[in-house]
Amino acid sequence: MKKSYLAVGFMFAAVAAATVGCKCEKVCGDACETACGAACAVKCECAPAKHVVLIGVDGCGARWIPWDVMPNLKALRDEGLYTVGRCHRPTASAINWKSVFSGVSPEIHGFTKWNSSSPSIEPPASAFDAEGRMPCIFSEVRRQAPGAYTVSLFAWDGIGNCHNTNTVDFARYYGGKGDEYPVRDASVFAEGARQLAKKPTLMLLYQGGVDHAGHSHNWGSPEYTNALAQVDANLGKFMTVLKGTDMWKDTAVMFVADHGGLGTHHGGVEDIRVLEIPFIVSGPAAKGLRLREPAMLEDVAPTIAALLGLDAPESWRGRAAVNLP
Ligand SMILES: [Zn+2]
Repeated sequence: MKKSYLAVGFMFAAVAAATVGCKCEKVCGDACETACGAACAVKCECAPAKHVVLIGVDGCGARWIPWDVMPNLKALRDEGLYTVGRCHRPTASAINWKSVFSGVSPEIHGFTKWNSSSPSIEPPASAFDAEGRMPCIFSEVRRQAPGAYTVSLFAWDGIGNCHNTNTVDFARYYGGKGDEYPVRDASVFAEGARQLAKKPTLMLLYQGGVDHAGHSHNWGSPEYTNALAQVDANLGKFMTVLKGTDMWKDTAVMFVADHGGLGTHHGGVEDIRVLEIPFIVSGPAAKGLRLREPAMLEDVAPTIAALLGLDAPESWRGRAAVNLP
C-alpha cells in the first residue's frame, strides 16, 4: 500500500513541475520548504511571481511622459520599481521590440529596420535553440512551463515578427487605419481584462497610438500627450479588473517602451529624448525586489524569466533587472 501512495505522490510532483512560481515544485511537488521541510532536496528558491503582465507602449519616451495626466501609470511607478532605461540605436520599433522579447541586442538578432520581419544581418548560430528558433520569452515559457497559459495582444502587426507567436496560446493583432489606434489600443486592454479569467502566466499588451500621434503631431504635442492619457485611462480600467482577481497577489506588471522621439521622428536622431525609455516593474510580486541599473531593453525577457522562476537561455545577453536586496 505504501508503495502505491509513493507512486501517486511522484505523479503529483511531475504534474506540479509544469507550473511556475517555485523551483521547489520541480523536486518535491510541494509549494515551499515551509511545507516540505527537511525532506526537500534543494534549497527553497521561490520565484517572486506566478504571473507577469508586460505593457509595451510604442514611442513612449521617458522624458515625454506627462505623469500628471497619467495617474495609473504614476501609481505603478510609485508603488513599484522605476528606472529610465535606454533603447538601442537605430532608435526604431522592430529593432528594439525584438530586443525586448529575445533578450539580445540588434547586433545579435539582426533586425535593423523599423519594420524588420526577419534579420538583415545573419545572427550567430548560437543564438538559436534546439528547435531552430531564436528563443523569446514566450517560447521559453512554453518550453520550461508547458502547462502555462500565455497571451499576446498587439495593435501593430510588426510586433508579431518580434516574438514567436506560434508558442503563444492566444495571440491576436488588432489592425486598422492609423487614426483608429485609439479603438485598436482600447481593444487590446479590453481583451486583456477578459483574458485574466484564464490566469495567464505571461500576457503582452502592446499599444501603438502614442507613436502614431508623435509621428503625426510631434513628440510632446497636445495630441501626443492626449494619446498617453488615453493609454492611462485604459490602463486604469484594466488594473481595476486585475486587482479584483485572486492572481493579483502573485502578479508583476512591467511597463516599457521601444524609443522616444523628437519633432515627428525618432529613428537616427541623436538626442537623449529619443533614447530614454521608462522601465517599470510593479505589482505585489515586485515587493522586496531591487532594480539593477542601468536597464536596457534586452533585459526585459531575462527579467520576466527571473520573476517567474525560469532559467534564461545561455544565448541571452540581457540580464535580469531585478534581484533580491
Ligand atoms: Zn516604435
